Amino acid sequence: MSLVDPVIELGRGLWRTLSSMFERTVTYQYPEHKRTVRPRFRGRHVLKRYDNGLEKCIGCSLCAAACPSDAIFVEASENTDEHRFSPGERYASTYEINMLRCIFCGYCEDACPTEAIVLGDNYEMSYYTRKDAIYTKDMLIEPVSSVNQTTPQKTPTGVFTRSVPEMKDAKD
Ligand code: SF4
Ligand code: SF4
Repeated sequence: MSLVDPVIELGRGLWRTLSSMFERTVTYQYPEHKRTVRPRFRGRHVLKRYDNGLEKCIGCSLCAAACPSDAIFVEASENTDEHRFSPGERYASTYEINMLRCIFCGYCEDACPTEAIVLGDNYEMSYYTRKDAIYTKDMLIEPVSSVNQTTPQKTPTGVFTRSVPEMKDAKD
């Protein structure tokens, strides 16, 4: 190694530093700036509602059966027209997902007959304890737009008898 080599290396290093000062930054100033996710990104789950506020989930547990990491726990209870959460006979009285187990594969979404469970675009999940990683139904359910749409609802007799709606053009 000649004496000139370290000087050349130093010059190359300085040039790299100086030239990078004018490159477009790739750093996001999170949380002020949030990254836009891809359309098929699989983030935190959401339990969806119908337009009238009734819950799409009917407590069938197909999502729990399809989950390869046993992350979902569902307990169903009976609906009545006086005290209705979802169309059909049953609703999910308990719905929990253990996010520490979840691998965000989307099998639960695919298995759901009512398109109730959807992996959304929220990637902001953090917890200090294992217990906090269990997301309950209250945390997962979609918020309502007006107080009249909260569940349970009193519904007319014999109207909401179908658990699974007729879907003409089911989406991906
Ligand atoms: S995304 Fe996959 S691992 Fe996560 S709860 Fe759904 S089925 Fe289970
Ligand atoms: S989310 Fe879908 S598959 Fe899971 S219990 Fe509810 S209705 Fe059944």
